[in-house]
Amino acid sequence: MMAKIYHDPDADLGVLKGKKIAVIGFGSQGKAQSMCLQDSGLNVTVGVRKGGKSWKDAKKNGMKVDEIAKAVKDADVVMVLVPDETQGDVFEKEIRPNLKKGAALDFAHGFSIVFGTVKPPKDVDVVMMAPKSPGPMEREVYLQGFGVPALIAVEHDYSGKAKKIALALAKGLGATKAGVIETDFREEATSDLFGEQAVLCGGVTALIEAGFETLVKNGYQPEIAYFECLHELKLIVDLVQSGGMMRMWTSVSNTAEYGGLSQRDKLITQDTKKAMEKMLKDIQTGKFAKEWLADASGGMKKLQSMEDAEATSKIEVVGKEIRALFEKKK
Ligand code: NAP
Ligand code: MG
Repeated sequence: MMAKIYHDPDADLGVLKGKKIAVIGFGSQGKAQSMCLQDSGLNVTVGVRKGGKSWKDAKKNGMKVDEIAKAVKDADVVMVLVPDETQGDVFEKEIRPNLKKGAALDFAHGFSIVFGTVKPPKDVDVVMMAPKSPGPMEREVYLQGFGVPALIAVEHDYSGKAKKIALALAKGLGATKAGVIETDFREEATSDLFGEQAVLCGGVTALIEAGFETLVKNGYQPEIAYFECLHELKLIVDLVQSGGMMRMWTSVSNTAEYGGLSQRDKLITQDTKKAMEKMLKDIQTGKFAKEWLADASGGMKKLQSMEDAEATSKIEVVGKEIRALFEKKK
């Protein structure tokens, strides 16, 4: 089954005209989304902590800025764009007490709703508009007159207009120029976590590092291992992303194609696939979310120690040296 893809004519920015949009958070997503929506002619107020880094940054970027509670007051749309692990707290303390009946609560990821850290009241719309891009790239593409693809979803339709609002938010970001797909909170939240764990962030880095370590352990120069297992990855990914697997297979040498296709199942085995199923189960049952939220509320000790180990690993040390070679000397 192919998903329906929404474009500009399917969305009406008019449903947001004259409405107050409060964007809570001015980080990766908050900054990009608030600035694009404002440039699209909408009435945007950024809600952030007074004295925080974002407060100054939002002002410097020409945004109306207010404390979170005040930004939420009278807002018709409240976009929750602070980090997922803080949303429960920020919602209870600053958003819920000020949330207008009939307002729309918007998220860029289904995490807080699906795993229950945010429990919205019944008299508001709950929608999602999730751009499939990091914030800075979203902004860059918008300024080029286009947009990045996005997902929309409706969790609760109080006003009867929830989907129109989500589509309008996507249009304000330019996303309907590229294409918008409808999903539901659960599908988005669990597939997003799975993608980043199994493939994008976890899988790819583990594969790179295991390949690098295998070569180094067997006496190869780390610089050579770095080129073969990390540097060239981008070239391959660009081919796969722009033209699918076949563009890549037909671009590399016959030797690489034969070797890749004939050997890869020795690496990603039935056991690996079983491990992926287990990973997905732990996401779906909330086991992963529980573990992560416990670390987050305990000061992120585990996250910090894993990050420290990664930062000091051999591939990181060698990588810094090698990347410096490629920087244009001024
Ligand atoms: P982020 O950059 O980490 O958010 C930082 C912002 O949140 C800053 O303005 C910061 O303000 C504020 N903030 C942090 N902790 C806070 C707290 N306890 N109370 C009040 N404000 C706080 O977040 P993000 O990566 O944009 O993620 C926002 C949402 O977008 C998440 O749901 C995420 O899953 C989703 N999303 C992200 C991406 C992405 O590429 N990053 C892509 C798609 C969807 P101060 O300056 O005052 O600290
Ligand atoms: Mg994602």
